[in-house]
Amino acid sequence: MSTANFVFAPPATPALPLIGTAARFPVHRIFCVGRNYHAHALEMGNPVDKATMKPFYFTKSPSALVDSGATVPYPCGTANYHYEMELIVAIGAHGFRLAEADAPRMIFGYAAGLDLTRRDLQLVAREQGRPWDLGKDFEKSAVCAPILPVGDLGVLTGGAITLQVNGETKQSADLSQLIWNIPELLADLSKFYHLEPGDIIYTGTPEGVGPVKPGDRISGHIDGVGDVALNVGQAE
Ligand code: MN
Repeated sequence: MSTANFVFAPPATPALPLIGTAARFPVHRIFCVGRNYHAHALEMGNPVDKATMKPFYFTKSPSALVDSGATVPYPCGTANYHYEMELIVAIGAHGFRLAEADAPRMIFGYAAGLDLTRRDLQLVAREQGRPWDLGKDFEKSAVCAPILPVGDLGVLTGGAITLQVNGETKQSADLSQLIWNIPELLADLSKFYHLEPGDIIYTGTPEGVGPVKPGDRISGHIDGVGDVALNVGQAE
């Protein structure tokens, strides 16, 4: 379709680089899981009892994506800008009301990512029962490293997940500590959405979240998946 059919040029399709090929992965939606490691849920003051609770989600706009290695300005409207290191699952198939056994056919690949958060705004929203958008879905808030195609990895069930700020370790956990694992998340999320190729899911962060300031360098690693990095620039 020609751009002559639009009143202005449509925005570029948000897309992520892939490891091993020049083609890019077009991103359709960004889902994020809240409170999916017990120690992080506790540090946020909301312990999780899997026997009686369900996972919950928020979303980020695909236009909020940032490539790993970027320098982003310290965001406006916050004095408490936090990192959250997360495993990202990239979806490569259609799926609705999935069984946990369907997980392998849904997974296109994995990436290391950062769910950047204006924690002060998120907590105000939480306390007042308001949406989390100001705290979570802001410009350049979704950092994602190049996607590693799933290949023979299958459904990840473990692997170290770590984050450092200026070389100091802040988060250190294991994917086996996910409260809801990948098959459980796909089965649950697909009760509420028709999952589609191009959806990506931030699976939640372990304990040790904290603030960063201009000049800080964030680096994260997930065993078997890869690395992610971000430089925090001056405020605009
Ligand atoms: Mn998160």
